Amino acid sequence: MLKVDIKRLKSIINKTRSSLKWRVVEYKNTDAYCFSIFSDSTSKIHNIYYPDQLFQKTEQNLVGFLHELCHAYLAETVHPQFGGIFFWPETSESIIDNVKHVFLTAQDWFVDGMVAKLCGTAFKQILSDDCDMLHKLNERMSNNDKEFEYGSALIFAQYAKYLNSDMAIDDSRLKAVKILLSIDPQKISLAKLELLTAQLLGIENTYACKAEFNTEVGFELFRVSRLFSPLDA
Ligand SMILES: [Zn+2]
Repeated sequence: MLKVDIKRLKSIINKTRSSLKWRVVEYKNTDAYCFSIFSDSTSKIHNIYYPDQLFQKTEQNLVGFLHELCHAYLAETVHPQFGGIFFWPETSESIIDNVKHVFLTAQDWFVDGMVAKLCGTAFKQILSDDCDMLHKLNERMSNNDKEFEYGSALIFAQYAKYLNSDMAIDDSRLKAVKILLSIDPQKISLAKLELLTAQLLGIENTYACKAEFNTEVGFELFRVSRLFSPLDA
């Protein structure tokens, strides 16, 4: 069992938060089931949503909150695409629904790279708890749940990377885990986020993505296109 220093963790949170230049607006007691963030680079506001039942200062929640602050920090200092996922305007809702989990997985690979750098011990402790929970969940979840599949591939890859441990990974996640491990999560840039997302999307070979500069918003948006399949003809 790793020893987590809560006082130190709180001080890292305070430092990260005070390094932000944009305003932070917190929404507490929401019906969200986990922490989430939307950083609006136009109004320069970070909106952070708290799940009602999780609003207690446990290690897990503190690391979860730090994770959102890291999204915010990277949105300000690296690229807005780390504080939300911004698609090209005409992207259809159904495409967004099909690919969103892949973008979130790629984004979190880098965001957690920053969390691990800031508070390695706490991050590893939470990771090992998550992995235990995942093993239990894994038995009950269907493999058709893409969000779960990518979310668990992320945890398995982090387990291998940060806890230097390998475990049996089933085929459906193995490709995603290998792709994640091929990219350094602590070298953070839009180009790396684009590369990782494109490679993860390549597993199913249904969509391609590219970050293209949009003059209206003033930064790169993701343009997602459906690849041709013989079954479409
Ligand atoms: Zn995240």
